[in-house]
Amino acid sequence: MAKYTPMIEQYLKVKEEAQDAFLFFRLGDFYEMFFEDAILAAKELEITLTGRDGGAEERIPMCGVPYHSADNYIQRLIEKGYKVAICEQIDDPATVKGMVRREIVRVVTPGTVMEGKTLGDKQNNYMVSVTESEGMMALAACDLSTGELYVTSAPSSNRWLQDELGIYNPSEIIGDTHLLTYIKEQSSAASRPVVYTPWDKNREDLVQKQFGDAVWARLVDERKECVSRLIAYLNETQKRSLGQLTHIKTYEPEQYMILDPFTRRNLELVETVRERSKKGSLLWLLDRTETSMGARLLRRWIDKPLLQRSLIEERLEAVDKLYQNFIVREDIRAQLKEIYDLERLVGRIAFGNANARDLTALKVSLMKMPMLKQLCQASPSATLQKIAKDFDECADLAELIDAAIVEDAPISVRDGGIIKAGYHARLDELREASINGKRWIAELEAREREATGIKSLKIGYNKVFGYYIEVTKSNIGSLPEGRYERKQTLANAERYITPELKEKESLILEAEEKMVDIEYSLFVELRGELNKQIERLQKLAEKVAEVDVYQSLAVVSSEHSFVKPELTDGYDLVIENGRHPVVEAVMKDSSFVSNGTSLTKDDANILLITGPNMAGKSTYMRQVALIVLMAQIGCFVPASKATIPMIDRIFTRIGAADDLIGGQSTFMVEMADIQVMTEKATSRSLIIIDELGRGTSTSEGMAIAQAVIEFVHDTIGCKALVSTHFHELAHLQDSLPKLRNYSMAVQESGDKVLFLRKLIEGAASTSYGIYCARLAGLPEEIIDRAYGLLQSLEQGSLEAVSATAEQNMGQPKSMNTEEVKEEAAAKQVVQMSIFDEEEIATPDHKIETALDHASHQIVELVKNADIMNMSPLQAMQFLNELKMKAIKL
Ligand code: ADP
Repeated sequence: MAKYTPMIEQYLKVKEEAQDAFLFFRLGDFYEMFFEDAILAAKELEITLTGRDGGAEERIPMCGVPYHSADNYIQRLIEKGYKVAICEQIDDPATVKGMVRREIVRVVTPGTVMEGKTLGDKQNNYMVSVTESEGMMALAACDLSTGELYVTSAPSSNRWLQDELGIYNPSEIIGDTHLLTYIKEQSSAASRPVVYTPWDKNREDLVQKQFGDAVWARLVDERKECVSRLIAYLNETQKRSLGQLTHIKTYEPEQYMILDPFTRRNLELVETVRERSKKGSLLWLLDRTETSMGARLLRRWIDKPLLQRSLIEERLEAVDKLYQNFIVREDIRAQLKEIYDLERLVGRIAFGNANARDLTALKVSLMKMPMLKQLCQASPSATLQKIAKDFDECADLAELIDAAIVEDAPISVRDGGIIKAGYHARLDELREASINGKRWIAELEAREREATGIKSLKIGYNKVFGYYIEVTKSNIGSLPEGRYERKQTLANAERYITPELKEKESLILEAEEKMVDIEYSLFVELRGELNKQIERLQKLAEKVAEVDVYQSLAVVSSEHSFVKPELTDGYDLVIENGRHPVVEAVMKDSSFVSNGTSLTKDDANILLITGPNMAGKSTYMRQVALIVLMAQIGCFVPASKATIPMIDRIFTRIGAADDLIGGQSTFMVEMADIQVMTEKATSRSLIIIDELGRGTSTSEGMAIAQAVIEFVHDTIGCKALVSTHFHELAHLQDSLPKLRNYSMAVQESGDKVLFLRKLIEGAASTSYGIYCARLAGLPEEIIDRAYGLLQSLEQGSLEAVSATAEQNMGQPKSMNTEEVKEEAAAKQVVQMSIFDEEEIATPDHKIETALDHASHQIVELVKNADIMNMSPLQAMQFLNELKMKAIKL
């Protein structure tokens, strides 16, 4: 084995501790990387790869970044989904003979960054721990930059895990390997890289110490394990106390409305489906927050709508009062505008990287608190008054900072210039000494000009020679011999010193050095003081965030004429003149057409919506879901009146053909989702199905759609909106008493179709698919042929249907053939052949053979069916398959 130099040996030893990270190995003013790290880093950071003799025969690949600009490089690697271990010199090289000791002082990972672009202002950056034991899964999510820590658990279910992860959108996940494998498989084209680290180390002792015995005792076992692993990981990577984690927020899955990742995406709650941008999402519309913590809280509210009516009412009360009181609202906004990101400032104080400017930002923010409190107190809202009640303005902390830190402090905390005069007696003395010294020097300059008669004589300073007297070459002749001691010769000047000048100089420099030291230690002391008050500051930040969200919702509600929803614990969902908030907001030229919704126990709880493409079906269905969701986060809704029951889950399913974004365009995915719906939906859920059964043949698609609708109607009993282009399914209204046919109105004039966007009772008679094809510019030849084929097909299936319908007379779920026949007659169908001549003239024996074959197939299918292992839905699907085969006979 190659023998390396001691330094490389040291490197290799440290590297063992950070195998999954780039090791930034401090050598003087550089962080160096070696071996594979260097090769990869050179590529990722576009820096030069060099080599170094390390004792072995071959040169060792090496690259490096300067110490002072390392943050930028670290950030770039983190953004690409890497970890970076920072290894510092522990000893002072000046005092140590031989090699200095080096240690990793911190591992920066995507989930633990504390500064930089990776942390979007208005977004949390979560790292998540996932564990599973004894049939329970747990999830702990921590944003180190804000100090938030949530934990929850539920009986083991991959779906639950996926739903919960969807809320946090973590940049880093640690935990059980099998869970990580599952999550990785499921994650569709993520918008940023996620780092996965299998992790089973656990530090219960640290959790107990950090959060106290009482908190520990209240955690159920699986949550203890999950949080302990998270803390162990943070401890091992950050290698410092994490004072910003002051409390653990536990919650139960039942507290919030469940929204699976697909529904979240499809409703475009926080980003749009296509561009994945915030603009165009519900969050974008509702976000009129003034502070970053308000923006983050609003996002969380949208991610987790409430289920408890009283809690929502409390929120609505505040929004309502602010909606009605423009002046109070504007006054509150004016205060909020000047409040910085308290949570992140506090995070940096705890982490020990807050600078003087951060403290000033904290002070400026705190100075707004008394007024904010007063405004809440004096507001007509009981909710805001409650917030004002134990509102600790932390005025003492503002004073503390104000007394110590100058207004325009520099970024660096090590170069002085940050502590105010009058704060510390010794510092004042030294400053005085330094000022006096400088004044003396200024006076000396005047004196010497006078004495020598050289007007251009000046006193300057540089780091190498200190203070000097400078005389230009042309004036040297006027200088009395031996007046000064020559120090340096320049091209056109001479520089001199005097013993007196040097004496003053050492006084000044000594004072300045001491001042810098004292300032730094005073600053650190102050930061330490504030660190002890972190819990108070965090509580305050939470209150500010809440007030901010209320005003944001009030502003939006007022600007877009939303109304306060009426919440009930009952079943019925009734919306008058509902609108899609985002579509309406982005519409420029035309106005949005409102539509009502009534889903009630006594009348109908399923609407089957037919109508051509582009008629507005999806918009309508999404608008109902959004209105419900907005109500349950405590926002007003886009309608003229709305009665909203507590919906426990919104489930959306969009036809496979539409779901191309996640790359999951297969029919199987659609079916798997429907399976989850059949299992998880309760009578309190809202189901939205857009174009069900699109990904398979028409007859199968229709059969599945019908079977699913029947299941929702008969077994689940929840509110549902189903859109379909199978207008043939309209007959379901006859057999399902709680289902109503609706359609999007269109006006036909000549060969033009005008979309009215109005929901009307009754089914559409056609899908207008061919009409859309014409709109898209297909040749007339194709369009004519398509109309002809359509008519033949409709006639053909009509005859088949009537044949079976006659056999099934009296059965509840068969078609109303008379109506269908009448409709067909009215259309004066012109029969066109779609079969081969030969088949039209099929001899009888051929028909018999075909019939025999088909019946045989059906018998075989029945014989082979494993009925005991079918879910009810599968059984229904199977039955339908048989029926369809029978229809074809
Ligand atoms: P469908 O689902 O029936 O194919 P969409 O819901 O996608 O139709 O609507 C198509 C377009 O029509 C939308 O992008 C929107 O611009 C417009 N639209 C939909 N509903 C309305 C409405 N109620 N008022 C005005 N425009 C609407």
